[in-house]
Amino acid sequence: MDELTADQVDELRLELIDGRARLEEVLEISKEGARPVDLDEPIGRLSRMDAIQQQQMTIANRGSYERKLRQIEVALEVIDKGEYGNCRSCEEPIGYRRLKARPETPFCLECQDAREP
Ligand SMILES: [Zn+2]
Repeated sequence: MDELTADQVDELRLELIDGRARLEEVLEISKEGARPVDLDEPIGRLSRMDAIQQQQMTIANRGSYERKLRQIEVALEVIDKGEYGNCRSCEEPIGYRRLKARPETPFCLECQDAREP
């Protein structure tokens, strides 16, 4: 796998910044939906169940958005240190194609596969 060129790092950095802005926006919008359902609110039983289910989904999504946001922030720090593009586990270049698809990933495909069950 080849090391990234300076242009590629620049391009991926812009995508990370873009992705960060999008995630921050989504997290801001979904904040409302993650608030506890008010059980005293006079809504029907079914819509209350809907509301709780909706809320649980929102919380689950927010969890994965927040994880991704943290990965993006770490990736941007790594770029600043000039160490972007290498796998955090085996230290081999991750490769442009994989980073293009997931610029926030800290691992090469092999190490990622080894980590996921
Ligand atoms: Zn690796």
